[in-house]
Amino acid sequence: MKELKEQGFKNVTGFESGSDIGGIWDIKNTRSTCWPQLYANISKLNFAYPDFPWQFNPEKELYHASIKEVYDYLHKYATVFKLLDDIQFHSKVLQITPEKVHLTEDGEQKCAQWSMEYVLNGNKKKKRPLIVW
Ligand SMILES: Cc1cc2nc3c(=O)[nH]c(=O)nc-3n(C[C@H](O)[C@H](O)[C@H](O)COP(=O)(O)OP(=O)(O)OC[C@H]3O[C@@H](n4cnc5c(N)ncnc54)[C@H](O)[C@@H]3O)c2cc1C
Repeated sequence: MKELKEQGFKNVTGFESGSDIGGIWDIKNTRSTCWPQLYANISKLNFAYPDFPWQFNPEKELYHASIKEVYDYLHKYATVFKLLDDIQFHSKVLQITPEKVHLTEDGEQKCAQWSMEYVLNGNKKKKRPLIVW
């Protein structure tokens, strides 16, 4: 979303079925398969957005982030780049057809018109939203 905005796209909107960002790193998300003691297997030096390096003191902190640290990092990123207001929570994408997103918003079925869609729904569920082109 940040990159699209920086490229000049208007009305960049994220649809998230859950109530928060973080994906698998959000332990509250029912889709998350993570556990509270999980640490990332890639160090903070590499497991970061290039334009948002991890602020940490290697003498006092581990190089590998805990699930809570990853969650906080993602939140900081979304806050600093002002993305949170552009995410529609409780909005589950059911299907994407050319220029249309079919979704349920708080349980109600809707259809929204968009000129371009990206699907970023993780990889754990067997079925991704159906893209019909
Ligand atoms: C147990 C485990 C440990 C991992 N550890 C590491 C690690 O240490 N290092 C590493 O680099 N990677 C790790 N990964 C890989 C991990 O998948 C990525 O780090 C990253 O979280 C993937 O991000 P994502 O946004 O693609 O998917 P996710 O984090 O899964 O986020 C997908 C989001 O899309 C939402 N969503 C899904 N379907 C819909 C829909 N139809 N409509 C609306 N919203 C929807 C979900 O609610 C979720 O918020 C791990 C994965 C697992 C399962």
